[in-house]
Amino acid sequence: AVTLSNVSKSFGAVKVIRDVSIEIAEGEFCVLIGPSGSGKSTLLRIIAGLEEATQGNVFIAENDVTDLPAKERDIAMVFQSYALYPQMSVRENMNFALRLARRPKAEIEAKVQEVAVMLGLEELLDRLPKELSGGQRQRVAMGRAIVRNPSVFLFDEPLSNLDAKLRSQVRGEIRDLHQRWKTTSIYVTHDQVEAMTMGEKIVVLRDGRVEQVGSPLELYDFPESLFVAGFIGSPA
Ligand code: ATP
Ligand code: MG
Repeated sequence: AVTLSNVSKSFGAVKVIRDVSIEIAEGEFCVLIGPSGSGKSTLLRIIAGLEEATQGNVFIAENDVTDLPAKERDIAMVFQSYALYPQMSVRENMNFALRLARRPKAEIEAKVQEVAVMLGLEELLDRLPKELSGGQRQRVAMGRAIVRNPSVFLFDEPLSNLDAKLRSQVRGEIRDLHQRWKTTSIYVTHDQVEAMTMGEKIVVLRDGRVEQVGSPLELYDFPESLFVAGFIGSPA
């Protein structure tokens, strides 16, 4: 579970996150949606520990992690620009975190093999990132996150660099992953369709504030503002 309690963030004099409180239940798939500049990435980075909140607290599984550095949070993040290590093979990219954590070699190999099969990467393990397509690279980035077995997944527009066909394919894979492991997930997008089809809970952000929280159906049937209606695409 992830809880944000009255989180605010300013860059200099500019307040970009304003008193945000959200509860994401254990195992829930939560979609964070809002226009460009509404603060989605900043909020995700605060949860990951890559950005410090100016005010408020972040809890992961009941623990206050507000002052915990990113690498000590039990979280894996998948970005839109999936910076893989260019000089490392797919296998090395995927097992890097486990090697750092000094896991036993046999365990590392078994885990990477399992995840590679799941993502259709088993034939590509010895290739370099530059020898992969965009969709394959994105899958390696996901694989790299999955092998760590985090208690929370954060996705920041992971599909936005893919073409339409790949996007729907990888979207399905992310959904299958969640079905299988029920890892608490927060997924940022500005695509309404993606939000409605993937989210169990949707949080609509506007100018750094939570405009409305609800299930896809609640937001569609009972938008509390024209902004939400317009954004979700329901008839206002
Ligand atoms: P997009 O959909 O375009 O990715 P977003 O909702 O993810 O947008 P953020 O990246 O969180 O938006 O940015 C929110 C606001 O904070 C923007 O106005 C942005 O310019 C500002 N901002 C983000 N990072 C910084 C920074 N490091 N320094 C100053 N301002 C920043
Ligand atoms: Mg963003």
